[in-house]
Formats: sequence, C-alpha cells, structure tokens
Amino acid sequence: MMRPTVSDHRSAPVVCGNPQIARDWVHAKITASERVALVPTMGALHAGHLELVRNAKLLADHVVVSIFVNPTQFGPGEDYQRYPRTFDDDLQALEQEAVAMVFAPTGPEMYSDRFSTYVSPPAVSEPLEGKFRPEHFRGVCTVVLKLFNIIPAQVAVFGQKDYQQARVIEDMVRDLDLPVTLAVMPTVREPDGLAMSSRNRYLNPVERMKALAISQSLRRAAELYAGGQRSAAELESAIQETLQDAAVERIDYAAVVDPVTLLPFDRDIPLERKTDSGLPPTPVAVALIAAHVGSTRLIDNLLLT
Ligand code: AMP
Repeated sequence: MMRPTVSDHRSAPVVCGNPQIARDWVHAKITASERVALVPTMGALHAGHLELVRNAKLLADHVVVSIFVNPTQFGPGEDYQRYPRTFDDDLQALEQEAVAMVFAPTGPEMYSDRFSTYVSPPAVSEPLEGKFRPEHFRGVCTVVLKLFNIIPAQVAVFGQKDYQQARVIEDMVRDLDLPVTLAVMPTVREPDGLAMSSRNRYLNPVERMKALAISQSLRRAAELYAGGQRSAAELESAIQETLQDAAVERIDYAAVVDPVTLLPFDRDIPLERKTDSGLPPTPVAVALIAAHVGSTRLIDNLLLT
C-alpha cells in the first residue's frame, strides 16, 4: 500500500510518516497559538479509539492520531507479526472524525539501523504486566517519548483500558518533566460489557462468549466491594472463580491492588475518604486482569470506588 509523505485535502487528514515533517506541521500550529492533542494508537481502530479522538477534540484545536505497531513493545513469541493492520479503514474512520493529521511512520522512520537508546521505565511498570511481559514497558516508554518529541502536542490522550500503561506514562511524564498534559479516558465496552480491543477480532464465536467472563468477573468484584467486602484476597478469589467457571485457558493475573503503585495491599482495602465536593469518589483500589482466551491474551480493569 502506498502512503503519501504529505497530503493535504480539505477534509481528509494530512497523512505523514516523516518525523521532521510531522514536527514542523505541529510547530506551525503551536506557533499560531493553536492547541494540538495527540492520540497514540497501534491502528486497527475501534470505537474505543474513536472515543479518545472525540475527547481529544474537546481539549485542542487539532487532533493528531499516530498509528504505529511498535515492534519494541512486543516480546519474542508475541503477536507483532499477526497484529491486525487495517490502515485504509483506519484512515477512513479518522476522516469522519475530522482528525487533522495521521502520523503513520514506517519501522525505519521510527527506528534507524543504529537505534540503541531506550527509556528505563518507572517502578510502576514492574508488577502485573511487567512480570509477564518483561520488556513491554521499556518499548512503550521509548516509543511514547519518541512520539511526544515528534508530535510536541500540549495534551496526549490515553485509555483506561490499558490502566498500567497510563500509570507508567504518567510517572514517566512526571519523572522526566515532559511538557505534556495527559488525559485518561474511560474504557469503551461492547453492549455486553467486553472491553473493546483490536485483539477481539482474533476471537472465534466460542472464545468471544468466554471472553465475556473477564468483564463479568470485574463487575462481580465491584458488587462485592459495594456490598462491603474490603479484603483484596477475597475479591481476587471471586474474580478467579468467575474466570475459571468460564474455562478461560490461562489467567496471568487477577489482582486487586493500590490504584497508584499497583502493589498489593498489606491489609484490607482502606476506606474511601468522604468529600463534599460533588466530585466522583476517589478510587481506593483497582482490579486488573490479564487472561488468555484461546490463543488471545486479553486485559481489562475496573476502578473500585
Ligand atoms: P492501542 O491501539 O491498543 O495501542 O491503544 C491505543 C490507545 O487506545 C491506548 O491509550 C488505549 O488505552 C486506548 N484504548 C484501547 N482500547 C480502548 C477502549 N476499549 N476504550 C478506551 N480506550 C481504549
């Protein structure tokens, strides 16, 4: 498929793969005192991605969506080769959303032959995904920092669907004083509750039914929590039971942990602080799951408030 280096139609987004040209385009907007929002994606766009784009539009004058299946965040034996690539459909969807620019670099445009500099990710990357995908967040932090440098947007929008990823990027931004504000948007779900994911298209009809247990088990934990259960271990057992009843192939983790550090609680989940501000209650715990359904690894999470 041919991709133009730069194309500028009236409504179609500018499509660009060259980092220098993309950066110049963003600089021109910022110099004109316009606000730019970045939505980083790996493509194979679904309604969850498009919701991020709509939210980004509320935060800025121009939305840039990056599409790049980043090789450095996939481990050996993971689905890098088979990851869905649907560039033409993605572009059409983004045109409907009046996105200003799509930054879609090739591998060599992001990683030169002699590429060798990586970001060492923050501590919050170590539990959960960090245990099962050891190099994953190194690749994520590296590509996100590169994207922030190429698209120096004032705001970047991420999804809660990848909760640990959002926490990792928040800490990287704080630790490295990156001049960008982050916005994290709620997970968009299918009508039956399954979190939307580019990987859902791997599921056959039987697996698609089975996958429902993931969101159901999180809802079950939220109900137990709402009913007064404050033992993280009890909540984790309830989640595991629901997943096992559905015969999911493997559970990497089913954890109820501190929503900031993602570390286990020493004791029961602390009580919520009451506020009179009218703001939503602060989450006191987060339940996170990574489970294999067939040969597909799915993740989901729910804040307990
Ligand atoms: P990905 O293309 O999977 O790398 O995801 C790109 C961005 O979209 C990340 O910030 C994800 O957290 C976010 N995202 C993915 N799925 C959803 C969803 N179902 N709801 C909201 N955001 C999502």
